[in-house]
Amino acid sequence: LKTRAVRKGDRYVVDGQKVWISTAQVADNILLLARTTPLDEVKKPTHGLSLFYTQIDRETVKIHEIEKMGRKAVDSNEIFFEGFEIPVEDRIGEEGEGFKYILEGMNPERILMAAEATGLGFAALDKAKTYAAERNVFNRPIGQNQGIQHPLARNWMNLEAAWLMVQRAAWEYDTGKPCGASANAAKYLAGEAGFDACQQAVMTHGGFGYAREYHVERYLRESLIPRIAPVSPQLVLCFIAERVLGLPKSY
Ligand SMILES: Cc1cc2nc3c(=O)[nH]c(=O)nc-3n(C[C@H](O)[C@H](O)[C@H](O)COP(=O)(O)OP(=O)(O)OC[C@H]3O[C@@H](n4cnc5c(N)ncnc54)[C@H](O)[C@@H]3O)c2cc1C
Repeated sequence: LKTRAVRKGDRYVVDGQKVWISTAQVADNILLLARTTPLDEVKKPTHGLSLFYTQIDRETVKIHEIEKMGRKAVDSNEIFFEGFEIPVEDRIGEEGEGFKYILEGMNPERILMAAEATGLGFAALDKAKTYAAERNVFNRPIGQNQGIQHPLARNWMNLEAAWLMVQRAAWEYDTGKPCGASANAAKYLAGEAGFDACQQAVMTHGGFGYAREYHVERYLRESLIPRIAPVSPQLVLCFIAERVLGLPKSY
């Protein structure tokens, strides 16, 4: 994390850039994590970061929208800070402790995205099941073929299993227990199960899977987001390998 916030009297001056920042086209305020102590002066890269909640000044903050394949209702942006000033009173908590504060929100965000992925997968499965029962080819519903049934049955099992992990993670979080492993596992399992179900729903619809009319093409596009964000599946695997299995850090 390279965006710098340098203290000058009663203000911080911010220079740097961020990417994939949601709703910056319409937002008045920004929650910003920036480096207040240079990297070579801290013991760990997560130290020396500070958190701010402040008003966006569009003169010194340049915002460019990223065109994307889905999620059109929420704009995503690249942001460039060029001498952006933040009053000291807009800092949240202690200087240098920002990463600790932001970490608090990461596990619930993973659980939330996992729930979204599961819901999307079940919605797609519902469409696929309905179409498979209704569409007749060679005088019988396509859903009478095991080649159609079995992938959908697998989707259901994987979605149900992912949903159990989502609930376990949510329960751990709600009851104040450590939930990092389950939140990451839920995000991974739900992201993959949701994507697989959406892809299978498109294939079950044949050519009409590609048509907008049945919505499954949209579900497939949307299902890529909880697969990629807020943490990639590969980095979840790294987390589980390191923090749960005790293997050496690989990156
Ligand atoms: C629609 C959308 C909205 C988003 N909204 C936000 C937002 O509001 N706020 C925000 O902060 N972020 C947001 N993001 C960013 C998102 O969290 C990141 O894109 C995501 O975490 C992946 O990081 P990256 O893009 O830097 O990928 P990279 O780190 O560049 O990784 C690229 C690929 O390489 C793999 N990879 C990287 N390192 C390793 C390794 N050591 N071993 C194996 N594989 C590796 C990754 O898993 C991935 O597959 C959003 C992204 C999208 C698409």
